[in-house]
Amino acid sequence: MLKNKIIKLLVGTNNKGKLREISDLLPKNLEIYSPKDFKIKSPPENGKTFKENSLIKAKFFSKKSKMICLSDDSGLEIDVLDGDPGIYSARWGGKKGDFKKAMNKVFKELDKKDKDWREKKIKARFICALTIYNKNKEIINSVGKIEGFISPIIKGKNGFGYDPIFIPIGKKITFGEMRASQKYKIDHRFKAFKKIKKLF
Ligand code: IMP
Repeated sequence: MLKNKIIKLLVGTNNKGKLREISDLLPKNLEIYSPKDFKIKSPPENGKTFKENSLIKAKFFSKKSKMICLSDDSGLEIDVLDGDPGIYSARWGGKKGDFKKAMNKVFKELDKKDKDWREKKIKARFICALTIYNKNKEIINSVGKIEGFISPIIKGKNGFGYDPIFIPIGKKITFGEMRASQKYKIDHRFKAFKKIKKLF
């Protein structure tokens, strides 16, 4: 399976933040393309898990571009919200991907559960499922997680998505307050990528 090293790859995402993070993890000599280069729109994500959705994307983009594709599906799980936003993390930002709105929705849902949640440790985790798919229909999967807590306020301007409300375990600042280089070394995407790194 995938006997030769991958030298050319489509990173299957139309999310600019994710494209940057995934590209930064990949070797610098790799030829990287994105669906935008081929004017391919994203498929509907109707899987029930991160893994299923990452496979849907990898398969779709690989078939359309005829290239090896690496796709990810990721999101934030909050225990007291029964795992929400979970696989709906992107959708909580609405059509425009407004993450201020998504983060405020998290706060609103937490308020509904418990008005005093800000005084408690609200357990959460980021999960990333990566899938590589090639024209021989070979599939490689990998999952990475980072555990942490929800910040009582939105803090920091770095990163994307829910970064300003996520405090990784053992740290005092949110992902949004961290330098990109600091976040990349510990996050869910990095952990998932580490397991498939040898393919590049
Ligand atoms: P999807 O994988 O394209 O469905 O989108 C995943 C969504 O999860 C993103 O749009 C973000 O809202 C959120 N997400 C995933 N990874 C991260 C991260 O590293 N930081 C912040 N938000 C993230």
